[in-house]
Amino acid sequence: MIKLRISDKTEAFRGECRAWLAAHQPLSSDGEAKLDAFIRVGRAWQAELAAARLVGVHWPSQYGGRGLTLVEEAIVQEELVRSGSPQLLGLFGITMVGPVLIEHGSAEQKARFLSKIISAQEIWCQGFSEPGAGSDLAAIRTRARPTTGGFTLSGQKTWTSFAHIADWCFVLARTSEEGQRHQGLSYLLVSMKSPGVSTRPLRQISGDLEFNEVFFDDVFVPQDQVVGNVGDGWRIAISTLMHERVVLSFARQLQSETALREIVAALGAENHRPLRRRAAHEVAKACAVRALAYEHLLSYAAGAKPGPEGSLDKLLWSESFQEISQLAMQITGKSAAYGEESKRAGQAVHRYLYSRGRTIAAGSSEIQRNIVAERILGLPRLSYK
Ligand SMILES: Cc1cc2nc3c(=O)[nH]c(=O)nc-3n(C[C@H](O)[C@H](O)[C@H](O)COP(=O)(O)OP(=O)(O)OC[C@H]3O[C@@H](n4cnc5c(N)ncnc54)[C@H](O)[C@@H]3O)c2cc1C
Repeated sequence: MIKLRISDKTEAFRGECRAWLAAHQPLSSDGEAKLDAFIRVGRAWQAELAAARLVGVHWPSQYGGRGLTLVEEAIVQEELVRSGSPQLLGLFGITMVGPVLIEHGSAEQKARFLSKIISAQEIWCQGFSEPGAGSDLAAIRTRARPTTGGFTLSGQKTWTSFAHIADWCFVLARTSEEGQRHQGLSYLLVSMKSPGVSTRPLRQISGDLEFNEVFFDDVFVPQDQVVGNVGDGWRIAISTLMHERVVLSFARQLQSETALREIVAALGAENHRPLRRRAAHEVAKACAVRALAYEHLLSYAAGAKPGPEGSLDKLLWSESFQEISQLAMQITGKSAAYGEESKRAGQAVHRYLYSRGRTIAAGSSEIQRNIVAERILGLPRLSYK
């Protein structure tokens, strides 16, 4: 529906992705309800894509990527969604901890972890949020105390997506109480198989069991699993969040497009002017949001590093996705409410419920607005004290 042409080179790359995906049906674990099947199939599908060099194309080639830019990475994500592929099992590794290790990791960490992220041999989760530290990430209380050869980690994380299937977790933990709060944080790589790590699932409003509570009970973390310097965790975490907002927002924009396609099909020839007007408004907005996000990606391709503009992309995409999901519900809602066995209605309900969390995950809309106000528009920070 939304066509955006960037250059002949990127269109050729898109053509390559599309042709490969047309010839290779995404593997599916439908009919195999067990989590084991979901993980096995997810790993196999990502490994197949990796063998075709379609995973982490923005990573340098010595680490398994193609040395392309975030524009091409976004194109891969778009084409995956378009082809009906499930979200890659190792997405957090590819979009968050991988780029962080490439930028801040030691040579040993790069050699140990990067190729296994690309091939989905190892799946990662993000251990940042805690019961008392979400928006205010500097309030983290999970403690990493020095011990012989490393640290002893104790505390609790929450809302940790995919912790129940992850092999590793990148954890932000407090290594010092001295100085300003954010100065005492460190970025640790923690094996989810370490003695003392346990997870408890949390069910979402959509019914999905995607995220978890994670408990660290005196978990030993070797010194060589600290990324960067001890106490440097805040700077590294912020760079993780910038990467998260840029690539994940993009990967999900096509979900809006899928919903818009369904809306247009459902409206068909119906002459319901207010709904048609709303649909047209949402299509126009989705085009603008995607074009803006591409413009930011092009600036990274020209050498800029992901910065606060990722907050703007994430804010605009997640709020537009909610409006689109709401409109889809309004159109298909009657059949959903009366439980008619309509696949479309079921999808619209699930999408609507799922969309609620999108303005919270990766930083709430209020926090993104604060970042846009202070770091893009340069407005002063107000104090009401
Ligand atoms: C689907 C989903 C997946 C997630 N996956 C992960 C994950 O894998 N790993 C991980 O670490 N975390 C994950 N999270 C957690 C997410 O990052 C946090 O929920 C988010 O940062 C908000 O934190 P909080 O829930 O503690 O809310 P709070 O920080 O307690 O905020 C509560 C409300 O107050 C508002 N608020 C807070 N501070 C301010 C302020 N300064 N100005 C204006 N308003 C403010 C917020 O916008 C919000 O509306 C996930 C969340 C969701 C919904």
